[in-house]
Amino acid sequence: MWPVDPDDFAPGVSKPEDLDHDESWYFLVLDGQLVCVSEQGIPRPVTGDELRWLDVELVSSHYLGRFRDRHCFAAEAEGPVPEGYAATGLFSWLGRVEPSVFYLAGRAQQVVEWHNSHQYCGRCAERMQDHPEDRAKRCPSCGLVSYPRLAPSIIVLVTRGDEMLLARNANWPTGMYSTLAGFVEPGESIEQTVHREVEEEVGLKVGNLRYLGSQSWPFPNSLMLGFHADYAGGEIVCQEEEISDARWFACDDLPNVPPATAISRWLIDAFVHEVQSR
Ligand SMILES: [Zn+2]
Repeated sequence: MWPVDPDDFAPGVSKPEDLDHDESWYFLVLDGQLVCVSEQGIPRPVTGDELRWLDVELVSSHYLGRFRDRHCFAAEAEGPVPEGYAATGLFSWLGRVEPSVFYLAGRAQQVVEWHNSHQYCGRCAERMQDHPEDRAKRCPSCGLVSYPRLAPSIIVLVTRGDEMLLARNANWPTGMYSTLAGFVEPGESIEQTVHREVEEEVGLKVGNLRYLGSQSWPFPNSLMLGFHADYAGGEIVCQEEEISDARWFACDDLPNVPPATAISRWLIDAFVHEVQSR
């Protein structure tokens, strides 16, 4: 697992009065990219002190909370990328910064995206107002409340004895195999999603579901809930256009699998460890 200390971050909506602006971190979104300072190849957010000297215009600013001893903001800016700074996609922060900073950057990008796409009420088209206490927007006309949207999805490693089932998505780089995954549908429990997705993607029945952990996956707004499940019947039949290949693999003969920053890899590693300790 990618360890995150729950004490690292204390979320908040209203910025405190004693805030030290110069030391604050700004996760600055410019044209959908994150502006950062690169220190020996490791990105870090812009500080409040640096922001003061940047030739950009702030379009919106959202207090996020306190990360260790720094207050943090998500902000959107307009203008050219300032000299000496880089603007990169969030994906390039993955694995280069410590996990809690990556998830904070993901939080910032999602808050900015949500703010931009919820300016008006989806029900009556009135302009939305910020909720005074929650990370939410409220319509002054009809009362509709909108919260940042998350898309829960499941990710599951199906196992049979000492083997694991890995599949290749039709759109992935050649040779990479991973666990099965899919979005939760309205009305489903997470467990129902696991059964449905496995059956849809590879035609198998599973049982004995074990929840292992979760990962925020901000591309753009997923929450991945990870499981192990035992094979319970059926023959592999790959879903057309989605899965180009699916096979059983032994732990000592694995194909190219996702990197350690992805929950799919944690599920694979946990099973390998389990088999090795039998
Ligand atoms: Zn409304």
